[in-house]
Amino acid sequence: MKTNYDVAIIGGGIIGCSIAYYLAKEKIDVAVFEEKQIASKSTRAAAGMLGAHSECDDFEIFYPFARSSQLTYFDLKDELRELSGVDIELRKGGIFQLAFSEQEKEELSATLSLPTVSWYDSVEMRNRENAVSSNIFGAAYIEDDVHVLPHSTCLAFSKCAQIYGASIFEYTPVFAIQKEDSIYIIKTNKGAFQAKTVVVANGVWSSSFFHQLGLHHTLSPVKGECISVSSVQPLLKHTLFHEHCYIVPRNNGRLVIGATMVKNDWHEQPTLGGLESLIAKAKTMLPTVTDLKIESCWAGLRPQTFDKKPFIGYHPEDEGILFATGHFRNGILLAPATGQMIRDLIVKQEVKKEWIDAFKVNRF
Ligand SMILES: Cc1cc2nc3c(=O)[nH]c(=O)nc-3n(C[C@H](O)[C@H](O)[C@H](O)COP(=O)(O)OP(=O)(O)OC[C@H]3O[C@@H](n4cnc5c(N)ncnc54)[C@H](O)[C@@H]3O)c2cc1C
Repeated sequence: MKTNYDVAIIGGGIIGCSIAYYLAKEKIDVAVFEEKQIASKSTRAAAGMLGAHSECDDFEIFYPFARSSQLTYFDLKDELRELSGVDIELRKGGIFQLAFSEQEKEELSATLSLPTVSWYDSVEMRNRENAVSSNIFGAAYIEDDVHVLPHSTCLAFSKCAQIYGASIFEYTPVFAIQKEDSIYIIKTNKGAFQAKTVVVANGVWSSSFFHQLGLHHTLSPVKGECISVSSVQPLLKHTLFHEHCYIVPRNNGRLVIGATMVKNDWHEQPTLGGLESLIAKAKTMLPTVTDLKIESCWAGLRPQTFDKKPFIGYHPEDEGILFATGHFRNGILLAPATGQMIRDLIVKQEVKKEWIDAFKVNRF
């Protein structure tokens, strides 16, 4: 078994797999070590919205970074399908971000000033989506905030990375990273591997590697619960979004309702209370949702940093170690831009200074 690589990536979620894809495409010899299966954790739980506009709370850093990632997806979907045969199911349709009062419309004013966002009053909105609540005041329509299937997207990144030469080790937890001279020893249940560079990308579980590597950063879990329901006739063409709750239409009439925000809960099972709150919120947007049949429910842990921005960059004292973690509510959206940024740092290509500063590990 080959045990020597240029780059070792810890974590086979969407962030680790996107990085592997972009590095392998540059002919860099890369291996991903995943404790369970590819895309089995937060990535699998996600709704897959690419909410560059609807999730935007910072127009100077988050928006340009998220928008560049979102635009990358529009080209990636064909590239990934042609190479891997996996359809990431990027569907057009976009999001209606609902307002139930004049004041809620006011709160959307910054979003409404962004390109590709327009206002629909209640009548126009209900002409587009006639099952939506008659109580709505109107909605911001965001054409480009489309969605993908997160699990398929992560698998597509991983398959394409393998086609470009990457090695993917599933069921291979990394226990420790040690430095010997200028080489890193990656200790796993399958023995020791060596790499010139290590990327820590294991989501909310990254804290232990920060600590092993002499840093005090901690990621905290924000549990999110979702329900999938089915209807015989498709009820929605667009995603509905209000106060962090959304209803995302998938293929075959399925709707995904998400997601709760439960801080510091490490349990990966949904609770009845969580599901009850989701159903109540979904009903305010789409009253007939309660008639639909439950298909499944699940939960995942969003990796949150102290300022809710990801860590993407070098260890402050060691350029052989990079972190790409803490993507919180937007890891699916930000995966391509993160993969490209880590690639550019490793191959020493230019990266925008404002992104380096905003996401650097020692930004306290
Ligand atoms: C309910 C919910 C809905 C969401 N909806 C959206 C959305 O609509 N849009 C969006 O952009 N984002 C969404 N997110 C957020 C998104 O899912 C995350 O930001 C993203 O998945 C983080 O990806 P990751 O690769 O960092 O982490 P993960 O997907 O958690 O991957 C980390 C991987 O590391 C592995 N690992 C852990 N420790 C080790 C170790 N020691 N050795 C080897 N491997 C290890 C784990 O097994 C795991 O597979 C949502 C999240 C949740 C929970």
